[in-house]
Formats: sequence, C-alpha cells, structure tokens
Amino acid sequence: MFKNRIRFLDNFYCCNVKDGIKLQLDFAKSLQRIDMKKEAKIIAVANQKGGVGKTTSAINLSAALAKKKKRVLLVDSDPQGNASSGVGVAVKKNDNHLYQAYTGEIPAHNVIIHTETPHLDIIPTSIDLVAAEIELISLPNRERRLFSLLEPIKTHYDYIIIDCPPSLGLLTVNALTASHSVLIPMQCEYFAMEGLAQLVSTIRSVKKSFNHDLYMEGLLLTMFDKRNKLTHQVAEEVSRHFNKQMFKTVIPRNVRLSECPSHGQSIFDYDSVSSGAKAYLDLADEFLKNQRN
Ligand code: ATP
Ligand code: MG
Repeated sequence: MFKNRIRFLDNFYCCNVKDGIKLQLDFAKSLQRIDMKKEAKIIAVANQKGGVGKTTSAINLSAALAKKKKRVLLVDSDPQGNASSGVGVAVKKNDNHLYQAYTGEIPAHNVIIHTETPHLDIIPTSIDLVAAEIELISLPNRERRLFSLLEPIKTHYDYIIIDCPPSLGLLTVNALTASHSVLIPMQCEYFAMEGLAQLVSTIRSVKKSFNHDLYMEGLLLTMFDKRNKLTHQVAEEVSRHFNKQMFKTVIPRNVRLSECPSHGQSIFDYDSVSSGAKAYLDLADEFLKNQRN
C-alpha cells in the first residue's frame, strides 16, 4: 500500500538536470492550477460516545462521495486505526503516518496513501498516535496542529473527512479546530443522548476560542432497527431536540456494514446492493444537496 504514497517532492529531487528543469516548470504550472482551485471542505465525524458508528460513517460517506467522483481525503485521527484498516491500509512498525505529520517530522502529503477506491485517499494512523495526544500538551499551538498540517493539501481535495476518537481530548479538539463542520453519528439506543450536552459544549468552546465558523453539519441516526420500538422512541426524542439539525437519511442496522471493515473494504466494494450501501449513498446525496443550499 505504502508504495502508493504521493511523492511529488521526492520525484522532483530524483531526476537529472534537464528533466529537473522540465519538472520544475510542470510543478510550477501545477501549483498555479492548484492556487486557482477551491479548497476542500473539512468535516469532523465526532461523538465521544464509543461504538456509535463514527468510523463506519466516515469510511462509507467518504467512499460514497468518491463514487460520485469527488476527490476525498479520509483522515484517521483515532489511535485505534479502524478507519485505516477499514479501507484496507495496514500501518506497519516504522511506517510514517498521522503521528509524524502531527509532530512536524514529515509533511502531510508524504503520509497520504491512495486506497483501492478511485478518488479516495487516506492519512492512516496507528496506536502511536496516542503519544501525540500527550506530546501535544507542551507544544505551541497545540489545538491548531491538524489545521496547519492540512493547510498545504486542502486544494487537492473536494472533501476532507476526519474520523475522531471516542473522547473529547486534544485529538478531537484539533479535528474540530481544523474543520468547517461537524457530523455527529448517534446510535438509536437508550443512552443515545447521554454525553451529547458535553459534546455540544466542547463544540461551543472550540468555536469561541479557535474556530468561529464551525457549524453542525448534522446529527446522523445510525444502526436504526425499524422493528424495534425503542429505536423509534429514541429517534423521536432526538428529533424533538434537534429537528432541523438532523439528517433525513437514517442508517439502518445492516450486518453487511459490520462485516466489511474486516475485509478492508467500503460497503460499496463489499456489497453494493445492501441496505447499508443504499443508505450511505442517500446520505452522500443529502450531504451534497445541503452544500448547495
Ligand atoms: P469508536 O468509538 O470505538 O471509534 P465508532 O463510533 O467509530 O466506535 P464504529 O466502529 O463505526 O463506531 O461501529 C461500532 C460497531 O458497530 C462496529 O463493529 C461496526 O461494524 C458496527 N456498526 C456500525 N454501524 C453499523 C450498522 N449500521 N449496522 C450494523 N453494524 C454497524
Ligand atoms: Mg471509530
């Protein structure tokens, strides 16, 4: 996988003088093109509650947008590395990943990997990212590290989607500071709303201190089981509080969605006719429609 790493700077230095001049011109031209391009919209997928469908939604919304020919970068900002393995990227010992970009050792474009899905790239991660959260505490601009590292690559993508860990620590604060909006997956279960007040308050304080324009992309109901009465009651309760901020699309409980990460595939590669695939395509349509409004 790592052989796919984007290496345009390495290439630049690995050529003879004649090729070098040509490449320099090409590179300058491509930079001019990039300058004129729009910057990516950045979305954090966050909820400090564990197991609510953050990673499943980050992977499959990214893959659905890529299927619609949008250039998408998925950033795995959870040391569990589930988004990386979920798209088939295994980070080995000594491989560079998000941690090295966070600490400034390596520029972000050198840790980007092309996935098997056309138009979908990823900045993968591994458990080493846990150290970043601790090391960040003593670094200047500790809340803006992710914002800064994404800055030079924004023009290469239409959307950058950040999968957050189940906590409200510095990794999530960095994701919220770097993002234009936040998408909150919620599982339709009894304690769904638990902790939501804390998440909303963290979003408010990031907005106040670091990112005035941050807004709610939407609440997404996940693992919806239409045969379960409790699921309907929870959905009604959530919509009473957050009506206008909820996605109309609801993600059903679908066993194919829970199987595909172990095959390192998005739902579209694993089972494109499943109810899960249809739901994430609907979500991508609703998401894109919201961008136009
Ligand atoms: P964490 O907080 O640990 O990062 P998460 O919020 O990212 O978890 P996921 O890993 O996406 O949650 O999902 C939790 C579990 O539920 C996983 O085993 C996943 O495969 C499964 N799952 C997610 N969405 C669905 C769904 N719609 N139908 C069935 N299973 C699902
Ligand atoms: Mg996750």
